[in-house]
Amino acid sequence: MKTSLAIPVQKTTKSKLPETDFSTLVFGKTISDHMFVADYKNGEWTDLRIEPYGALDIHPANAALHYGQSIFEGMKAYKNEKGEILIFRGDANAHRMNESAVRMCMPEIPEEIFMEGLLQLLDLDRDWVPSGKGASLYIRPYMFATDNYIGVKPSETYKFIIFTCPVGAYYSKPVNVKVETDFTRATEGGTGAAKTAGNYAASLFPALQAQRAGYDQLLWTDGKSHSKIEESGTMNVMFDINGTLITAPTNTGTILKGITRDSVVQLAKDWGMPLEERFLTVSELQEALEKGTLREAFGTGTAATIAHIAKINVNGKDYILPENKANAFSNKVLNELDGIKYGDIADTRGWIVKI
Ligand SMILES: *Cc1c(COP(=O)(O)O)cnc(C)c1O
Repeated sequence: MKTSLAIPVQKTTKSKLPETDFSTLVFGKTISDHMFVADYKNGEWTDLRIEPYGALDIHPANAALHYGQSIFEGMKAYKNEKGEILIFRGDANAHRMNESAVRMCMPEIPEEIFMEGLLQLLDLDRDWVPSGKGASLYIRPYMFATDNYIGVKPSETYKFIIFTCPVGAYYSKPVNVKVETDFTRATEGGTGAAKTAGNYAASLFPALQAQRAGYDQLLWTDGKSHSKIEESGTMNVMFDINGTLITAPTNTGTILKGITRDSVVQLAKDWGMPLEERFLTVSELQEALEKGTLREAFGTGTAATIAHIAKINVNGKDYILPENKANAFSNKVLNELDGIKYGDIADTRGWIVKI
């Protein structure tokens, strides 16, 4: 591995590896030995380092805790049969993090620092990357304000951290969703396109109401008219109506630019699948469900890649979707993406970086 940044490493004296059972991993609970940290002060990123994963010293007046200048990314690395680590589209995450940073008045992190920190961290913690189909290392880069000042203004100091979690294979069972027409996830002019903590905090209450009503998550609609489908839970969402793939465009500022979404769109284009990047209206969706022209609907995101939708509640009425077939577009796309991520299918698009 070629490295261009000299990043000092302080290794843990007590690895948690021997006591970690890779067969019972719960998503997000097991955290690898080390983390990459960089501090932003006096207008620049400094003090890049890799150190043992551990608690941070946070001041009670920490600005992020009060006003929410906090952004994150979610990505994954995989192990191939040769034991090499493959990172899927990490440059896209680095790029997106900076788009979030701009919206939240936070400093951009040079892609070189993001990628080098990540590569060197994964190289050190490579034994934490699980092997086996479906298993992966979930990577959480994030940045937050560190000024100890409770005036409302952009912080002058920040911390950027990357830590990782081994995650086991998980089959995501088809989900039941409900079209949400009261609460709003994002609205034009808001922060919906930024991967920022507050968006998640604001979605918890409506999501909990849906769960109490027996649904796994919400199908969010636009904040103005609640007539257009935007996303599903914390995933982008796609519909196959009569063989045409329909998914929301990403130019309104209300849709998170999912990297899984983009990958599925690229594959659909390469395969000649008819594709429309436009908003599907709630009434169009209901009509397709009534007529039986909705072949499938699924969420796309890093955690599950594809989450099939089994049931949709529209205007108080439940509709059961057709049974998920092995030859459905979603399954073809899932197999192709998994093949690329685990190195079984040649990467012709420059999506993989190997360590
Ligand atoms: C992270 C996220 C997604 C999915 O993005 P991926 O890059 O595919 O993981 C979709 N919607 C929201 C709101 C998100 O936060």
